[in-house]
Amino acid sequence: MKIGAPKETFEGENRVAMTPDSALQLQKLGYECAIEAGAGKAAGFADALYKDAGVEVLKSAAALWKASDIVVKVRQPSAAETKRLTQGQTLISFFNPAANADGMEAARAQGANVIAMEMVPRISRAQKMDALSSMANIAGYRAVIEAGNNFGRFFTGQITAAGKVPPAKVLVVGAGVAGLAAIGTATSLGAITYAFDVRPEVAEQVESMGAQFVFLDFEEAQADGAATGGYAAVSSPEFREAQLAKFRELAPEMDIVITTALIPNREAPELWTEDMVAAMKPGSVIIDLAAEKGGNCKLTVPDEKIVTKNGVTIVGYTDFPSRMAAQASTLYSTNIRHMLTDLTPEKDGKINHNMEDDVIRGATVTFEKEITFPPPPPKIA
Ligand code: NAD
Repeated sequence: MKIGAPKETFEGENRVAMTPDSALQLQKLGYECAIEAGAGKAAGFADALYKDAGVEVLKSAAALWKASDIVVKVRQPSAAETKRLTQGQTLISFFNPAANADGMEAARAQGANVIAMEMVPRISRAQKMDALSSMANIAGYRAVIEAGNNFGRFFTGQITAAGKVPPAKVLVVGAGVAGLAAIGTATSLGAITYAFDVRPEVAEQVESMGAQFVFLDFEEAQADGAATGGYAAVSSPEFREAQLAKFRELAPEMDIVITTALIPNREAPELWTEDMVAAMKPGSVIIDLAAEKGGNCKLTVPDEKIVTKNGVTIVGYTDFPSRMAAQASTLYSTNIRHMLTDLTPEKDGKINHNMEDDVIRGATVTFEKEITFPPPPPKIA
């Protein structure tokens, strides 16, 4: 069978779902590999590198989609791309099934089997295919780099002949995968880092990375997300008030605020209000990683960088992994390759779409002309 990676069509998307290295690994599973000409260019992988790795380079998207038994992609396919799916073809890509009913129905009607990468169950066995985590890790790292790029000072404190430099104070709101990556990057650059999350169990992880966990002056324990499979739930109004009061206290002190707070299938909670921005020092920076879901900061403009009247820079970019396209493509294509390894137990270049397998079942959203989303909960924790 042939696996093909088209050039991404979403504006500004620089990643690619197959790299020359991942193609070599896929060939070891017995597959032939193809890309659309120029598919890897924006990520730094020229066509010639693919050719050297034994990958066929096809001239157009139409030729690539037609020739491929399995299409691997990064972004949710556009309506035009979805139309290209054919009977029996497999698509492995981010697909946003919860908000892409039309795309799912079109794929089903055309008889394509779709594996949605964001649906890979977050269980230990599937970590190697967890593209949400690999991309969030990059976003967290890049958020700190972006903050540094917009901040006119060092992160680390210094005593130099030219004067004493105080260390930057960084607050990370939301200590999931992206937040922890941001904490690790900020502390490694020498910042004094604080972090907050509604899930109290992350306090230990935060502290083990050299940051201070921010506890609330609130009589109940911080909301316990355990009941929602490790994800956060909506906080009570009292909890939210206590959280906002703490942030108000911290706002004038913080040089950099990186917000990553998300609640599955909802708009991002608004946690950094206008008065908090107004209380920050000129030159401070906010990086809102929740911008795509509406933003954690009231003033965030998705996809834009703005500077407020009091001189606070607010970055609402929604494409952080794409801004590190070479790294992101390498990790994402490895996630895809691991998925294909599980789909090819015989290493015979033929897909075995085993719906008895928890991970494959969990990620499959259309199969043999049926919609299989949402999946049943995984059996293994
Ligand atoms: P996410 O992107 O959905 O949310 C980011 C963070 O925001 C979370 O830590 C969440 O608790 C926090 N948050 C939500 N509301 C908030 C608020 N009001 N204030 C402050 N913080 C708030 O989360 P994620 O990074 O995808 O990770 C979610 C969970 O999944 C974590 O427990 C993570 O450890 C777990 N996980 C497990 C695996 C695995 O394979 N076992 C892999 C990845 C993630």
